[in-house]
Amino acid sequence: MAAMWTFALARLAGILLLGLCVGLLIGPIWLWVLVSACLYLGWQLLTLYRLDRWLRLRSQIDPPNLGGIWGDIVAQVVRLHRRKQFHKQRLIQLFRELRRSTAALPDGVIILSPQREIVWFNRQAARLLGLRRPVDVGLRIDNLIRSPEFVLYLHGDDFAMPLVIRPPVPLDLYLALQMVPYGGGQSLLLVRDVTRQMRLEAMRKDFVANASHELRTPLTVISGYLDTLADDSSIDPAWSGPIRDMRAQAQRMNAIIADLLELSRLESTDGEAPRDAIDVPSMLERLQRDALASADRPRQVVLELESADGLFGAAHELESAFTNLLVNGMKYTPAEGTVRMRWWADGEGAYFSVIDSGIGIPAEHIPRLTERFYRVDAGRSRGQGGSGLGLAIVKHALQRHGGWLDVQSVEGKGSTFTCRFPQARIWKQDVRTAQSA
Ligand code: ADP
Repeated sequence: MAAMWTFALARLAGILLLGLCVGLLIGPIWLWVLVSACLYLGWQLLTLYRLDRWLRLRSQIDPPNLGGIWGDIVAQVVRLHRRKQFHKQRLIQLFRELRRSTAALPDGVIILSPQREIVWFNRQAARLLGLRRPVDVGLRIDNLIRSPEFVLYLHGDDFAMPLVIRPPVPLDLYLALQMVPYGGGQSLLLVRDVTRQMRLEAMRKDFVANASHELRTPLTVISGYLDTLADDSSIDPAWSGPIRDMRAQAQRMNAIIADLLELSRLESTDGEAPRDAIDVPSMLERLQRDALASADRPRQVVLELESADGLFGAAHELESAFTNLLVNGMKYTPAEGTVRMRWWADGEGAYFSVIDSGIGIPAEHIPRLTERFYRVDAGRSRGQGGSGLGLAIVKHALQRHGGWLDVQSVEGKGSTFTCRFPQARIWKQDVRTAQSA
């Protein structure tokens, strides 16, 4: 490289020296030096012109044979160009492979612009959602999928869980849609056919509901006979122990069946709970009275009413949720402990907590508590007459009211179960006062 520049400078010096010599011989010197400099400049301009022409028509003509420093520049340009072509080819190939693989995916994929317009979609998305190419490209996705839940989901910001909808095309399908935002405000909309899972789930729910329903009648008969036998003084005293056990187990089975039916009912009722006005403070006062009347309870069952507000919801479902939490608090708190119920509201919503000073729950169990039949200590729960369905019922009942359950617990110290209700479900105290006036 340095040698090339030395050679170029030497050539310029040689040309100027030649001009100087000619000037010395036939004078004037300045004229011949100027002529030689102009000749050099002209030659450089000609080379530049050939270089420029080649750069412009690079794809049609061969590189000029320029030699020296210009030849080196041409060689470098050719090298750069080849490297660029190589990378471009690789990128194009990669892009084609990506398209081919996404097109072959068993799930639908739609690329959405920041304005939620369709940029691209694969074959499966077209099949599942009835999209047509190219007419639907550029259209807003919410103009094509008009389900209100989807529109809410699309404009929200919580995409952690997929949304299950029935598609707009006349196919009897259930589709799970999930947004995956990525750079520059664009998003992927993944579309999965979950019809099979939904049908299996429906069959499972139907089976549980039907089996529970069928078991209820024979069990009522058995319980009735056992109650009669237990009260019959003519029965051999040796039988009283077994009859008492059978009666207790029959009661437990009745409780499990009642919980199963309640859970099936909650699961099979679509959408939100009705919006009946419910006087929550009165309901809680009643629950406290019942709790205090029950024989097997911790000494203290306290009610702290910090709000007079009520809720818009289904009385039966809310009572079932609150009772389950209260009964759990009492079941898992020793006789010398305390169970506190607290009802309060703030700018964001209304809350019901059951705070106990009982056995607590190890942290690793907390995320799974609302699963059906999940028990921290199965032996202890059964001993307490628990079905393992109580918290699943609470979760479903709250979900139907737009609420959710929050669990805090320290093993050996106690637990706090809080039901959180959104502002929209609160039956305001002033409205209530006006209505009752
Ligand atoms: P169960 O009928 O067995 O009480 P739940 O669904 O109501 O069923 O509760 C699930 C499990 O959560 C229980 O088996 C128990 O281990 C644990 N649990 C629930 N509430 C409490 C509580 N207040 N204190 C300690 N453990 C609790």
